[in-house]
Amino acid sequence: MTEKDSLAFETIVAEAGSVKDGANPVAQPLYLSACYRHPDLEQAVNFDRLQGFTYSRVETPNRKTVEQTLAKLEEGCQGFAVASGMAAVQLVLSVLKTGDEVVSLDDLYGGDFRYFRHLEDHFQIAFKLWDGKQLSALTGLLTPKTRLVWLETPSNPMMKSVDIQAVADAVHAYNPDILVAVDNTFYTPFYQKPLTLGADVVIHSATKYLGGHNDILGGIVVVKDPQLADFYFQYTITVGDTMSAFDCWLLTRSLKTLPLRMRQHTASAQKIVAFLEKAPHVEKVLYPGKAGMISFYLDSDAEVERVLGSVKLITFAESLGGAESLLTIPYYQTHDDVAEDQRLRLGITPRLLRLSVGLENADDLIADLAQALGE
Ligand SMILES: *Cc1c(COP(=O)(O)O)cnc(C)c1O
Repeated sequence: MTEKDSLAFETIVAEAGSVKDGANPVAQPLYLSACYRHPDLEQAVNFDRLQGFTYSRVETPNRKTVEQTLAKLEEGCQGFAVASGMAAVQLVLSVLKTGDEVVSLDDLYGGDFRYFRHLEDHFQIAFKLWDGKQLSALTGLLTPKTRLVWLETPSNPMMKSVDIQAVADAVHAYNPDILVAVDNTFYTPFYQKPLTLGADVVIHSATKYLGGHNDILGGIVVVKDPQLADFYFQYTITVGDTMSAFDCWLLTRSLKTLPLRMRQHTASAQKIVAFLEKAPHVEKVLYPGKAGMISFYLDSDAEVERVLGSVKLITFAESLGGAESLLTIPYYQTHDDVAEDQRLRLGITPRLLRLSVGLENADDLIADLAQALGE
């Protein structure tokens, strides 16, 4: 038998949670137990958190499966499954101290900026924004106080792509202690593994592609360095914002089809991009080449209102990465909390729509878009 670590992506996820348990289940059962029995004092005194369980805030069997599977897929040393993507963002930024500086890409999930403002106001942590273009502009923002560099690629909703390896090399050449963190929600490890490209930390909103069915809320952090893993472990068990056993159980099930789903999201999105590029009222289409996220501009406010009001198969709702296709208007929804001037500078206007291509037949989705666009 080959070592699990050398197995292919599809094999790792298909076998996730396959455990040897008393009743010999093939699929991992859902463990709803708040605490776990100690066989004797000796085991309690010398408790090894990697071997057993004590209390569910610390670890549960279902969470451990998710964490170990994601650590393998992202090729890190340890994974953390937390309550939401935002909890994952908070966990990563828990290394910051008052006076630290962060350099971040300027186009991110809107909630990130809300948290950055909190850290600025309450902890005097400075956030400097980089437009993702010239590397020299990024290195020009680094100072001896820089503790972390934050990237999201492709970015939400402008689909900016950043060369993770080039950024990590430049940042680490300046100071190897600066952490490079990458939000990998849009591509997932199926298409991109930031830790293998020089990043130190990778995060996900598991609510999106990893979960894939619009039915769970969760976040994932995977790190490369065991010392950083220990720091994050202490933080999560202290604040207690861990992913519930039930969400972990659903997530394990979801991961088994991640490769199949990602291939299909890509194939359908590529077809839809080809349609949108020639469709009436569509001025410009932004698509990074892989996965199912497409942003596009319409030619008038009236057309935006009409399209959002007349899609039938596609749902006007604010999430992404699931089986059901969703259409969002970032200016008013996901990015409402980003300062108006920053939104407009980035191109997040009231005429920009963001489509998460689901798993419906692509031709049905195209027919729905065609009728909504008034073809
Ligand atoms: C949704 C999202 C988040 C936040 O995740 P939640 O699970 O909603 O808390 C963070 N980053 C990206 C790229 C997202 O799309």
